[in-house]
Amino acid sequence: MTGMRGVELLAAVALVTGCGSDDAGSSSTAKEGDSCSREAACGGQSLTCRFVAASATAEATCQPEASTGSAAGAECSSTADCRTGVCHFGVCSDLCGQTGDCGSGNVCEEISVIEGGAQILSACPDLSSLPRAKLCQPERARLVRDLGSVADGKVIVLDFPEGAASFSLVGRTEGAEPVGFGRLEAPDGEEIFLSTDDPAQMLKNDVWFYPDAFVSTLQVPTTPDHSLARGPFCASVKSGGPLQVEAIVKRDQGGDVAHGKLSLNIYLTGLEAAGCGLAGITAATASSHAVLSDALESARTIFEGAAIELGELSYHDRTTIPAIATLTTSDPSTFDPVFALATESQGFSVDVFVVKTIPDGAGFAGHMPGPPGKHGLPRSGVVVSADTACTKTLGVTIAHEVSHLLGLFHNYQPDPGFEDPIADSSSGKENLMYITATPESTQISPGQGFVLRRHPNVGW
Ligand SMILES: [Zn+2]
Repeated sequence: MTGMRGVELLAAVALVTGCGSDDAGSSSTAKEGDSCSREAACGGQSLTCRFVAASATAEATCQPEASTGSAAGAECSSTADCRTGVCHFGVCSDLCGQTGDCGSGNVCEEISVIEGGAQILSACPDLSSLPRAKLCQPERARLVRDLGSVADGKVIVLDFPEGAASFSLVGRTEGAEPVGFGRLEAPDGEEIFLSTDDPAQMLKNDVWFYPDAFVSTLQVPTTPDHSLARGPFCASVKSGGPLQVEAIVKRDQGGDVAHGKLSLNIYLTGLEAAGCGLAGITAATASSHAVLSDALESARTIFEGAAIELGELSYHDRTTIPAIATLTTSDPSTFDPVFALATESQGFSVDVFVVKTIPDGAGFAGHMPGPPGKHGLPRSGVVVSADTACTKTLGVTIAHEVSHLLGLFHNYQPDPGFEDPIADSSSGKENLMYITATPESTQISPGQGFVLRRHPNVGW
């Protein structure tokens, strides 16, 4: 480790260009201590190219391979787990010069060398001064790093390299006070998000984020209309107490996501006396139930418009549930007992609760966006009313609420200026994100699809 501007980073590597053995591709003559910038330069078997520990000069050399370390691609929890001494977002990484140096399914990519891939600091460092190196990275993956408890006012630094499609910071707390992140700084030092009490001011941010109770997710980007610099970002934690923070980087084919697949966990919640043809539906009958099948077929067609395929659909009965107070969209806490019922969900998927009725609305999404890969938390799913089946809008409502959870805002709001930050989404009711669902509200614009496919809950 090296101390640098008060920042604890992995010993940084200077990209060595004068090393003859590097230029030759690999070398059987490499000796311990030779400078290197790629694994192949050290000749393979017994030597490995790794950062020089405790070096302030920021270099890597050929060093004896750690006898207990894992090879590139293996899971890790610390640098000691990896033979090259690089554990990036839980995966051992090799230093590289070009993609041919990396194993199948990996690309060689320049990236800021930040311990573990995401790190907690006391203040944002000079982002332009962070050391960079080329590391083998999975071409397509969701990389997750649990940062544990982070105190109010601390900052989180992580890199957004070319091969990343999005990054997300998920903050959780036990309290009901709005929590989250107060500021986000881009690699060029520009402030692209600043939390304020003035909603109109918030909308001027390049990145949209709203604090929320219990859990909130800062996802970048929130629109295709602000091109973001690639490199290290710095986010500050803003909460009344410590936040449990997880960082997720979604990688896909050079930072683009052409296609996606979405799995839904459908909880049939207290529908014994539901109306609109859904009374008595159970998990056993759900997949062949005409009303629900029609609705899911509508949702499938809608998401296909954004190049997202509906993947696995699982059905779960919640017939014997604790009494749920009358649900009301004016008090989100009334939905908390519903979200808590998602005890059978796993991994990166979305929980959809179909309930008998929501007297003042068609549906409710826990947050925009919701926390990736989380289930059973107070804001970790969507709820839709069975009553929407009577107006042939159950499928639209499912797709609409799920799209909120994946990061979309309304294309139209009665309050001027509160529409989404996506230029190509019209303000018309033909758009899926129109504030009131109609059977015709089925369109997703290319810009909206760009955002949807970047949420980590959308997989492959
Ligand atoms: Zn809505």
